[in-house]
Amino acid sequence: MASALYLHIPFCARKCAYCDFASWATPAEDPLVDAYARALGAQLGEAASLGFLEGCETAYLGGGTPTLLGAQGLGTLLKRVADLAAPSELTCEANPDSLCDEVLLSARDAGATRLSIGVQSLDDAELAELGRLHDAACARERVAAAVASGLDVSVDLMCATPGQTHESWARTLEGAVALGVGHLSVYPLQIEEGTALDRRYADDPCMWNAPEVQAERMTKAQALLESHGYARYEVASYARAGKACRHNKAYWTGRSYLGLGTGASSMLNLEEYLRLSTACPKLPAPPGGAVRVRLTGETGRRELAGDARLCAQSFSLEFLTEPQAVAEDLMLGARLTEGLDPALVSRARVLFGARLDDAVDDLLARGLLAEKGGRLAPTEQGWLLGNELYGALWDLAPGEVASASC
Ligand code: SF4
Repeated sequence: MASALYLHIPFCARKCAYCDFASWATPAEDPLVDAYARALGAQLGEAASLGFLEGCETAYLGGGTPTLLGAQGLGTLLKRVADLAAPSELTCEANPDSLCDEVLLSARDAGATRLSIGVQSLDDAELAELGRLHDAACARERVAAAVASGLDVSVDLMCATPGQTHESWARTLEGAVALGVGHLSVYPLQIEEGTALDRRYADDPCMWNAPEVQAERMTKAQALLESHGYARYEVASYARAGKACRHNKAYWTGRSYLGLGTGASSMLNLEEYLRLSTACPKLPAPPGGAVRVRLTGETGRRELAGDARLCAQSFSLEFLTEPQAVAEDLMLGARLTEGLDPALVSRARVLFGARLDDAVDDLLARGLLAEKGGRLAPTEQGWLLGNELYGALWDLAPGEVASASC
C-alpha cells in the first residue's frame, strides 16, 4: 500500500511570526498533547489493520513540533511507527529548544533514523525577528548533539528574512556546514497573509524579501554548499552522498503516501482510496475517470484526540484524472535536479500530444528547462522562476480538478 507515511503533530511552544502551518501554541503539559499523540497511535493501528502500512518505506513525524511531546510521548509514538510500519527511513522534525538530550536519545532508541531540525538562522537578531524560541548558541549546541548521537541530521535554513545580509546568510550556511550535518533544506521566507510578520510589515515594501534578494541568497547557498560537497538534488534540498531524504522524494515522484493527523495530506491511488472507504464509509464515491485522490485531514486536534477512528474524521478531497495526475507529476518532477523521468514524459506525450511538445519547446527556449543526460531537467533560471516553470507544466492538465468534502 502507500509507500510513505506522514504523521502530523499540530502543537508548538509558540507560534513563529511567519508561520501559517497547521500548528497551535500549546503548553507541553496540556493534557491535549498526550491525548492527541495517543489517538494518533490508535489511528495508526487502524491504518495497519487496513493494510496501509505494508510496504511502507519511509515515515515522517512532522509538525508543528513533535519534540514538544517530550521523551516519553515522542518515544512511544515513534516506536509505534517503527513496530507497525518498519520504515527503513524514519524522520522526526525537531526544534532546538525542545530537543534536550533525553528527547534526542528517546527518538533514536525508539527507531528514528533521521532528525530534521528547524534552525532557520544562526544569527540571534534574525531569529528574534522570526519569533523563534531558540538562539544561535542553542541551535549550534543541539545540532551538534544530534550529529553526535549518530542519527542522520538535516537542518532547515531560511533566507531573505528581515535583517539578513549577504554576509550573515553566508555565516549561517558556513555555521551549519561546520556542525557536520548531512542534509540541508534552504528556503526563501514566504510572507503569508494573516501572520504576525505580515501584520508587522504591512506598510513596508519588504525589500529584504524581494525576488532578486531571494534569488541571490539561493544562488549563494548553492555555490557555498556545493563547494563543501553537498549536491543539490531538489530546488530546496542539499545532501552529502547517500543522505538525500527518501521520504520527501516520494512527494515529487508520484508515489502514494498516507497522512494522519490534523491538517495532514494524503495522496492515494484509486485502489488505496477504495480501501480507505471501507473504514470510512462517508468518503464520497470517486467520479468517473479519477485515478488519484488527494485528501487533507480537516478534523480539529481536540476532535481527533477525542475520537481517532478513521470513520469519525473529516476530509477535503480532490480527485484527479490520469491527464491531471500526469501533469501534476511533471510539475513536481521539475523540482528535482535529475529532471523528468523519460517514461513519464512518454506517457505525457501520449496524453497531451503536440501540446506537450509546444510547452517543452517554449520552456527550453526560455531557458527554464534544459536537456541533461537524455532527460529534461530544470535550470537554475527555471527554479528561480519556479511558478512559471511549474505553472506551464500544470497547465497541460485539462479541466477542473473535482473536489469534495465530508
Ligand atoms: S516551529 Fe514550525 S510549525 Fe511551529 S510555529 Fe514555528 S514554523 Fe510553525
